[in-house]
Amino acid sequence: MDNVCTKCSGNPVYFRRYSGERLCSECFSSSIIEKARKTIKKHKMLKYGEKIAVGVSGGKDSLALLDILIKMQRENEYELVAITIDEGIKNYREEAVELAIKACEKYDVEHVNMSFRELFGFTLDNVLENRNDVKNTSCSICGPLRRRGIELAAKKIGVNTIATGHNLDDMLQTFMINLLSGDVYRIKQSKPYSMPKEGFEFKKIKPFMEIYENEIAFYSFQNNLPFQSTDCPHMNENIRNELRDVVNNLEKNHPGIKFSLMKSMEDITENIELKPKKLVTCLVCGNSSSSSPCSVCKTISLSEKLTKSNS
Ligand code: SF4
Ligand code: ZN
Repeated sequence: MDNVCTKCSGNPVYFRRYSGERLCSECFSSSIIEKARKTIKKHKMLKYGEKIAVGVSGGKDSLALLDILIKMQRENEYELVAITIDEGIKNYREEAVELAIKACEKYDVEHVNMSFRELFGFTLDNVLENRNDVKNTSCSICGPLRRRGIELAAKKIGVNTIATGHNLDDMLQTFMINLLSGDVYRIKQSKPYSMPKEGFEFKKIKPFMEIYENEIAFYSFQNNLPFQSTDCPHMNENIRNELRDVVNNLEKNHPGIKFSLMKSMEDITENIELKPKKLVTCLVCGNSSSSSPCSVCKTISLSEKLTKSNS
């Protein structure tokens, strides 16, 4: 193959193994913006003029999402507001919050920055210091609280569409976690482009759900987007990390296998009928759930108990 960009004959900087394309920096970046646009269109993620709350953690995915939503914006197509949730992880989250603030200043986007302490009355560090049961991994406590935190912040500013930077690899890891934990129902519910259902007031969209994680990272480098370089100190507690390696190894020997796995996930979510589970309304937060309190409200209450018993 000629060593020129497949699209413009310029100097290639990236070889896309699953498609065989060689791309120059500009064509690579345009292809990522185009992919995100296609995903949004295909899944009818946005309505004209909609206000979108973008979850901006300060990591590469969320900062690239903000950058791309700004770049692909046509006149008054949508309005953006950024939400950052500070869990209170000492010597880690501070840098990310700083990067999120700077990015919002650069793009002149309204920024809402809220902490676990403001939202729930404790920091993640407080909870973890007092944790005595190893079954509750850091991420199993942090994840639901972060999701609830973004929802509470969005509610506060009156926005009901939440966009997050979850990429294809994130989606596949979640799919496999649910598969390995025997929870096909959760896969069925995990439609990433869902409209608000009865009992759910937010529409959650994931414009990067069809883009490889390494391509988002490469986009960030090519576009000089500063993002947090260090990993969360609790990252290795999560099975996600092991699954990331498994899927990446498979992809190395079988380029494109991530798309096949994604297709399986989509088929399960869209085409396979499961015997409906009875849903109840969580008496604490009002969301539909298989139990009341729902799992998020249980995590909040557990965290409150842990922090109170030791304060
Ligand atoms: Fe929270 Fe786990 Fe993510 Fe760290 S890796 S920010 S603990 S969900
Ligand atoms: Zn609840």
